[in-house]
Amino acid sequence: MLAEAIFTGTEMLLGQIVNTNAAYLGRELAAAGISLYRQVVVGDNLERIREAIDDARRRADLIIVSGGLGPTEDDLSREALAAALNLPLVEDPAALENITRYFAARRRVMTANNLKQALLPAGARALDNPHGTAAGVFLEHEGKIYALLPGPPREFEPMVADRLLPLLEPYGARREVIFSRVLKIAGMGESAVEEAIKDLLHGDNPTLAPLAAPGEVTLRLTARAGSAEQARELIRPLETAIRERLGEYIFGSDDDTLEGVVGAILGGRRLTLAIAESCTGGLLAHRVTNIPGSSDYFLGGVVAYSNEAKMKYLGVEEETLAAHGAVSPEVAAAMAQGVRRAFAADIGVGITGIAGPGGATPAKPVGLVYVGLDIQGKVKVQRELFIGERENIKWQSSQSALYLLWR
Ligand code: ATP
Ligand code: MG
Repeated sequence: MLAEAIFTGTEMLLGQIVNTNAAYLGRELAAAGISLYRQVVVGDNLERIREAIDDARRRADLIIVSGGLGPTEDDLSREALAAALNLPLVEDPAALENITRYFAARRRVMTANNLKQALLPAGARALDNPHGTAAGVFLEHEGKIYALLPGPPREFEPMVADRLLPLLEPYGARREVIFSRVLKIAGMGESAVEEAIKDLLHGDNPTLAPLAAPGEVTLRLTARAGSAEQARELIRPLETAIRERLGEYIFGSDDDTLEGVVGAILGGRRLTLAIAESCTGGLLAHRVTNIPGSSDYFLGGVVAYSNEAKMKYLGVEEETLAAHGAVSPEVAAAMAQGVRRAFAADIGVGITGIAGPGGATPAKPVGLVYVGLDIQGKVKVQRELFIGERENIKWQSSQSALYLLWR
């Protein structure tokens, strides 16, 4: 099926608006397997629109007209189609209903010129437009199909997708869905992830695309098919292959977050959590409490920024601070133990690090972070060296703590 499209609107010829409908229609027709051979823009002039329709119908099977369905003098597409095909305009009950319903819903009074929008070329049917007064027009005439659609993009786009394309299915238009699934990975960098799956990256349907966010890599698996179910079927073997290689690093899918997954684990195992934060300044507690129901497992936290606060509220020994410095595995461990004790929690987390840009020494560069974990008396410390700006380092620190909790 060959299509041509006519976009009406003097404002496009004057360069006052961009023809976004053309881009939208082009993409949608391509996805539906309909060849669009020509697009023209004409001003709001009856004779020129008529001529454009007359011209297009000599070549194309499907002629789509955008715009000119409004109630005013310069809305001429219905008249132009009727003139091009030598058909009379007749009042259409469905088109009239579209107008009256639109006005009734907005408690506005309908003016006489709105009735013009109910006049369709004889033999045409109205396409219901839920977003405006002007119904679309669909006409099969002498082996060709004509579709008139309203110009405003917020009306035009749904009319193409929900009204026109379904009507073209008998003529071979495919209705394709694009379905994506996202797998989320923590504890592994983007290049390592890519290395592990690089032979899977060149598929066509489904496609696989890695995306790096701070402290997280996502893999987007996308398939095109006739239905969402078929697209899922296409994706399934690819997901299985990825899980075989990276399974232990995949913490969730789609809308899952690391804090949500950790929360579900803690809640499920009935373990409680307390958090001591230095360089993250409460960010970890913020993320943990973003999860509804976190009160089931999160008892509380201490933002202990100064050495004094670390001693006073977390019981970190002055000697430990003096011997190793605040950013050290010893202090991270002592913070985790101290906060676990203070809140009588099952698990304590301690984060201390250098978020920069100042405060660094050759031995302790910006981005050096220690995350301590005390799980019912079993203490471990993770050393990290992050690259990035201050906020980014804080984020990655909270991500590292959540990752340790998840493992
Ligand atoms: P209305 O009932 O609003 O008059 P209509 O179907 O008669 O709708 P037009 O009068 O041609 O459509 O256009 C109305 C408005 O929609 C334009 O002023 C413009 O803002 C927008 N519009 C029309 N055609 C396009 C297009 N091809 N691309 C982007 N925007 C458009
Ligand atoms: Mg108009």
